[in-house]
This record gives sequence, structure tokens and C-alpha cells, in this order.
Amino acid sequence: MKISRISVYQVDLPMKEGSYSWSTQSFAAFDSTVVAIETDEGITGYGETCPLGPSYLAAYAEGARAGIARIAPNLIGQNPMELECINDRMDLLLKGHPYVKSAIDMACWDILGKATGQPVYSLLGGKRQEQVKLFKVISRTDPDIMADKVAEYHELGFQQFQMKVGEDPTTDIERFKKVAAAMRPGDVMDADANTGWSQHDAIRVVDAVKNLGSDHNIRVYIEQPCLSYEECLNVRRHTNLPMILDECMESLSVLLRGYHDGAMDLINLKINRMGGLTRSRQVRDLCISLGIVMTIEDSWGGEIATSAIAHLAQSTPERFHFQSSAFHDYHTVAIASGGPIVDGGYMMASDAPGLGVDPDLGVLGLPLFTV
Ligand code: MG
Repeated sequence: MKISRISVYQVDLPMKEGSYSWSTQSFAAFDSTVVAIETDEGITGYGETCPLGPSYLAAYAEGARAGIARIAPNLIGQNPMELECINDRMDLLLKGHPYVKSAIDMACWDILGKATGQPVYSLLGGKRQEQVKLFKVISRTDPDIMADKVAEYHELGFQQFQMKVGEDPTTDIERFKKVAAAMRPGDVMDADANTGWSQHDAIRVVDAVKNLGSDHNIRVYIEQPCLSYEECLNVRRHTNLPMILDECMESLSVLLRGYHDGAMDLINLKINRMGGLTRSRQVRDLCISLGIVMTIEDSWGGEIATSAIAHLAQSTPERFHFQSSAFHDYHTVAIASGGPIVDGGYMMASDAPGLGVDPDLGVLGLPLFTV
């Protein structure tokens, strides 16, 4: 099988709640890139990469498309089912820029699944859990409004919440207290600062909230308090709250460093930060071997990227999977049918071959370019 044509689409994903806010940033919509890889055997695979705006990671939407335009002509004629060869070739063509390569790698997994008649979760090791536990994001806003959201999300079945903080530490402490008071016993409060606190502020916050878990019988976690690995490690040494590292977990070497330093209890594994499903599978399997539990997600995305999350999470043992995000559930538009079914705080990937998604070309429109 050979790649015969690659098309790239752009689509905006507007938020149902009007905006999505974390740390000091806020967006009404995210700019997503969809890749369609056609083959000489008539099979087409789809992938998606969607940076969370241009300032979240070293990634931006226009960069994704520029990078794909750079790589794509040199993938024509290659076998999309030889995933390691495809990744080797992409690395030869473009150093770094994993989020660019993620959509192409994802589309190749879709092709491999369709060609072999298997869902991607089977190719990633098999269905090791029947459904994927979700968290619901409580977008950063006024602390009282954030607390009011908890009851609404409980009604939808959610028991795990990623509370966005990382703005003003004094207001953030208020957010912790008000949201905790609205939670039910056993709920998860994953307080994600998204790198927003300086080290001294983070230490002040974790000290101020250290008893919230026992006071409200909830499970409190701190996620990526500061920008650098070193700052996060110092915060970790000042708190007994479980620590999740996300933005700084960008390579195998920093994962291993974190493991040896005891810097975190969990990591947040984002597919496009690792460069696609191939590299994410490697990180996932290493985490299982090391005993590191994972949030499995992506930086953002519609039905296609969320489907890849669901397949990777469903092929991960339940005891190593902390939570995932159903991004497509946050939007006013659907870019594909066949995306994961969301129900009662869980999602399930399609059992159809490949990722199981069928893009809506009426929503995606004409490709920006084709090679
Ligand atoms: Mg995070």
C-alpha cells in the first residue's frame, strides 16, 4: 500500500459555554487541522491536531499546517502501515514539531485499522477497559460561578473535575474552597494551574489547601503548578498532595528524570505533544512498566483527535488510567460522525475498523491544500 494523496483542512471549534479559560488565557474557539491521507488501495485515513491556542505549548495552528505542507510531499509513495518508518521519515524531514507529525501519524493508524479490519484500540494492545473515565473541565472564571458549575456537571454524571486555576493565587485559593464545598464525597478535584504560578505563589496555595481533601472527603490533586520542571519539583517537595505533571512532560528523557526524582505521581499524556499515537504508545507502555498513572488526552481537538484519545485510553489498563477528556463534547460543531459516545462521565471508542470516524466534508469544506 502506498500513500497517493494528502489533503489538509482547517476548521474552527467554537465552545458551547462561549469560552474556555485557563491560567491567564481564554479562547472562544480553537483552530483545528484535519489531515486526510489517501492510498492507492482506496483506503483513506484521517488525523487531527489542534493546539490550545498559540501560547499554550510551543505549537500553533498555522504552524501545524505549514509543517504538514513541508513534510507531506515526501510521504507520497510511502507505506502508511509501516508506522515506525513513517515516523523516522518525518523526523528526517523536520526536526521537532511533534504536533505537526501527530495528525499524519494518527491518519496512518486509521489506515492500518481499516486495512486490517481492526479498531485502533486492538492494534494498540487490545480493549483493556470497557469505557474511559472522563473529567469535566471547570473553566476559570469567578469562583462562585465555578462552584455553581459543579452541580450542573454532576447531573451529567461527572465525578472528576479539572478545575482551572493558575491566575491570581489569592483568588485561586478562593476557587479551591468554593468548588470543594460544592463537590460530593469521593469526587476528584484536579487543580490545573497550567504553569501559571510562580514557585513561591504555588507553595502558598498548596499550603492553604492542604486540608481540603479531608475536610470535604474529596481527592485533591495539583497539576503543573509552574512553568519549569525544576519549579514543579520544588513545589512537590513542599506538599503531600498528589502531583500531576503535564506541560513539562514533553519527552521520554524528562519522564525518566521525573521518575528518578520522584517529581510526580501521575503524568498527563497528550498525543500531539508526543508526536502521535506511535510515540504516545511508547510513553504509555513505559509508564505502565514504571507504575506511573496517566491522564490520557491531547492538547485539544474534535471528533477525530478525541477518538484517538479514546482508543489509546481503552487499550490502557484501568489501574493506570486516571482520566481523559471528551473534547468533542465541548463544541457547537461536529466535524465527524462516529466519535466516542459520551455517557455518564465516561466515553467509548467506536468498534469500527480504524479510528471509526467519518469526517463531515460539509463542515470541513474544501481542503486548504492537497499534495
Ligand atoms: Mg493540564
